[in-house]
Amino acid sequence: MSSLKCPGMERIRASFPDEAACRCGATVELWPDEFEARCPACGAAVAREAPPACVEWCAAARECVGEALHDRYMKHKKATS
Ligand SMILES: [Zn+2]
Repeated sequence: MSSLKCPGMERIRASFPDEAACRCGATVELWPDEFEARCPACGAAVAREAPPACVEWCAAARECVGEALHDRYMKHKKATS
């Protein structure tokens, strides 16, 4: 299974942060294991703009990204939808 790779996994395991724009105009860094972060400027919760959607429907997602991360993603998804 270690040879199995998908673009979603690459994205979610990237070792650099994505940047999201807060509504106050500040830029918030979101690390791959974060789906939401606090804006350093105003303290608002900023959600990832482009969530790794493959985690939602990919049958291998749980193994792919790890159970803990998968569960966190699903909880976040439930809380924000
Ligand atoms: Zn802000």
